Amino acid sequence: MTPFSPWRCSVCGYVYDPQIGDPDNGVTPNTPFEELPSGWVCPACGSPKEIFELM
Ligand SMILES: [Zn+2]
Repeated sequence: MTPFSPWRCSVCGYVYDPQIGDPDNGVTPNTPFEELPSGWVCPACGSPKEIFELM
């Protein structure tokens, strides 16, 4: 696994791509999933990081 592996929300299928980040929620591009703030949630369905799975 690399720092820039994409992670998928197991609830809604949203994919977090570290090379894109989540600009709408203040996450800049090139932010590895592991470095997302603990309060970050799936921007599509609001689920917590814990339910994401490595693709
Ligand atoms: Zn989701």
